[in-house]
Amino acid sequence: MSEYSLDYWQSQASQIAIPANAWINGKPAAAISGQTRPCLNPATGELLANVAECQPEDGDLAVKIARDTFNSGVWANMAPRARKLILVKWAELIEQHAEEMALLETLDVGKPISDTLNIDVPSAVNTIRWTAEAVDKIYGEIAPTEPGTLALIQRLPLGVVLAIVPWNFPLSTTAWKLAPALAAGNSVILKPDPKTPLTALKLAELATAAGLPDGVLNVLPGDGLPLGQHLSLHPDIDGQTFTGSTNVGKLLMQYSGQSNLKRTFLELGGKSANIVFADADLDKAALWAAVAGFYNCGQTCTAGTRLLVQESIYDEFLAKVAEHARDWQPGNPLDPNTRLGAVIDQRQIDTIQKYIGIGQAEGAELLFGGDALTNLNGQLAGQFHQPTLFKGVDNAMTIAQEEIFGPVVSAIKFTDADDAIRIANDSRYGLAGGVWSRDISTALKVANGVRTGTMGVNNYFGGDITVPFGGFGESGNGRDKSLHALNDYSELKTTWIEY
Ligand code: NAD
Repeated sequence: MSEYSLDYWQSQASQIAIPANAWINGKPAAAISGQTRPCLNPATGELLANVAECQPEDGDLAVKIARDTFNSGVWANMAPRARKLILVKWAELIEQHAEEMALLETLDVGKPISDTLNIDVPSAVNTIRWTAEAVDKIYGEIAPTEPGTLALIQRLPLGVVLAIVPWNFPLSTTAWKLAPALAAGNSVILKPDPKTPLTALKLAELATAAGLPDGVLNVLPGDGLPLGQHLSLHPDIDGQTFTGSTNVGKLLMQYSGQSNLKRTFLELGGKSANIVFADADLDKAALWAAVAGFYNCGQTCTAGTRLLVQESIYDEFLAKVAEHARDWQPGNPLDPNTRLGAVIDQRQIDTIQKYIGIGQAEGAELLFGGDALTNLNGQLAGQFHQPTLFKGVDNAMTIAQEEIFGPVVSAIKFTDADDAIRIANDSRYGLAGGVWSRDISTALKVANGVRTGTMGVNNYFGGDITVPFGGFGESGNGRDKSLHALNDYSELKTTWIEY
């Protein structure tokens, strides 16, 4: 990051063009009603743009365009190699606009610029490029049927796919949805969270510039109600893919049942256990306990919010984690040295503060942090929160069971591997986790025993585009990333031939 400075990014921010229109049929479009919504910078409270606030009527228009485009075959029936080249070109354009994309994401979400530039943007580029490169390398199957018959098994696109994404990782979650949905040949309606529409709109502009036919990708900023619900109930949408809260995920399942049984794949909340044994590399585990809890201000579905520590090292280990928490003081997201950016909005701060109060009332001890901060350094009028560490937490407490979505880690004692597995699995969620031990048998026993979609052994947040990502239980049913993601965007079709 050495070539970058706070001054550089502030100067770039003062000049950047902010996309403010929806993207429909390959062009920018205002909402039919003319409605807009102020898009605010969470770090400063300043207005970034008044962004088109799409309504059900815009949704209907976009669905019709997406359907007509799908039926025309302009994308779905394009030669796989040609489709691949357009998607690869799209990844290249995003890479060429990396600074602009990172800056839009930082201004919109309040995330540190070092993270958006070094993690979110490269991850989106890699997701699209990797998935695109697979398009002309995936084969169908021939079934082992009787002589005189030939059975072909093909994967066909669903048709029109709705993607609804949240505000915490707008760019990377969008890329996780769009890359396989488009690679599979679908037409897509993307509804970003109304708080964070900017990188999604820029992505669509770049997709058109890369040669994606008009109408294949339509981006409609707008609220869950009425737009998201209207689209999710729409009879002419064939599949929906969602990242967001478990409560809204349950609604989408209902909307599917109430409408046309559109295929529904969900990536939902988490309350993941990061499990540290006494024989682990405790310095490394403590450093990563802080990363697992505080990265992206804890607004991370996979955050290691339950820190399970073996009882013999409990106090000693938490002292180390508290030392690392000091390195996570909130700062200006445009400063390349900032690790902890802003919290998305005041409502989220209120939620975090509510849970901190509940934690104390239920008997947990506040070991570090606990406060919300405004007017940071006398300069930033947005909302921030201290990294926060609770000790003496029992897994039955509210702060160990419910997703807080802020930089709050709850430390829980365990005795042995069986106890750690029991506590980790005592959750409605099952998204991520980690286990730290130098004993391979202990580590693998725990990694296998914890019912969760991804488990790190002597790491946290490990993984790349080659592996599937998703949850068990109320963390959802879909799988983003890897070739497995294509399953969520295609139907199996059998052709049975007799000769
Ligand atoms: P949310 O569920 O409130 O909103 C997510 C999206 O759903 C937004 O675009 C919103 O406008 C839309 N929406 C809201 N109500 C709707 C409705 N009735 N019909 C249709 N759409 C509707 O989520 P949030 O609280 O803003 O985001 C954070 C949540 O996302 C957390 O629970 C987090 O764990 C989860 N998340 C999960 C993953 C994952 O991959 N598992 C990744 C990131 C975030």
